[in-house]
Amino acid sequence: MSTVKVAPPFCVRTAALALMCVTTGCGSVHSANRAVAGSSAGAAGFANRSELAWIARVGTWLTGLYDVANANVPPGGYCVQTFRHQVGKAPTTRLKPALQAFMSFCKKVDEGQPEGALLSEYDKARGLTLLGEGQQLPDGSGSYLDGHATYAATFIVGHDVEVRCWSGPDWSLLTRETAALDGVPTGKEAGLTTFAGNKATIQLSPSTCASLRRVERGRVTLSELRQWQVKRIPVGFLDSEAVKVLAHEAEHARGVRSEAAAECYAIQEVPATAVELGTDPATAREMDLVLWSVFPQAEPRGYSSPQCKMKGSLDLHLAATWWPAHR
Ligand SMILES: [Zn+2]
Repeated sequence: MSTVKVAPPFCVRTAALALMCVTTGCGSVHSANRAVAGSSAGAAGFANRSELAWIARVGTWLTGLYDVANANVPPGGYCVQTFRHQVGKAPTTRLKPALQAFMSFCKKVDEGQPEGALLSEYDKARGLTLLGEGQQLPDGSGSYLDGHATYAATFIVGHDVEVRCWSGPDWSLLTRETAALDGVPTGKEAGLTTFAGNKATIQLSPSTCASLRRVERGRVTLSELRQWQVKRIPVGFLDSEAVKVLAHEAEHARGVRSEAAAECYAIQEVPATAVELGTDPATAREMDLVLWSVFPQAEPRGYSSPQCKMKGSLDLHLAATWWPAHR
């Protein structure tokens, strides 16, 4: 289907009222909700029930911190104290690094340190909280590392980045962790970016990866893309969306935190990214046309900007970009 929705980004306001938007679920949706595995134990490295409950308490605490910080975090160790009272000790050894990272983050919040000093601490703590995202792949459920997508994303990010394609069961478990942390429903994300230290990793849903595999194998055709524009047959559109999701997440991995900017940059980067994935240039350009034909009307709130136009502030001035005549 062509519905486009996303989970909202999670944002934290610091004591200095600077806005930190941390990338969570984003990109477009083209799959139905997925059932969450009912086991109390996390498969492979994913969070088990007690860990998930702790992660959810972290998420609730962060939301409260955000609300308070809108009116300035009170002095006197508010961040550290509320974490201890509302979240408590880590339930397992492997979550202790996350707890310590949040303590380090909190000390800087309570000291009123500037946003730049807080972002890396927050990313680190968040990365350590999400347990299953960095586990070794491939695994027995069908999750794998996508070498083609990694190659294409590296052009955007500018340094090493890894693209992970998750199986349906693994994606359910992975998004269960991010949903607990961010307080959003599971199963809506097409992709997300996580950070562990200075290393960003792009995590993609099974449906996004299925579309990317078609692109990588050169199976997208001009005929399919034009059929979508005339008859709304979705296959070519979904392939185009998947390339945009990859580019969007790569923008986050590059450090772009604004959803509107990441989305605008991503659409401009679709032609080059699709070629790097394995599509011929004419088809890649047509994929871009498909995406522009639904922009900005199909974008969720916060994912478009009036500056996303030729010579607008979000124009990357890429030679390969095809700006539609009306933009
Ligand atoms: Zn995003």
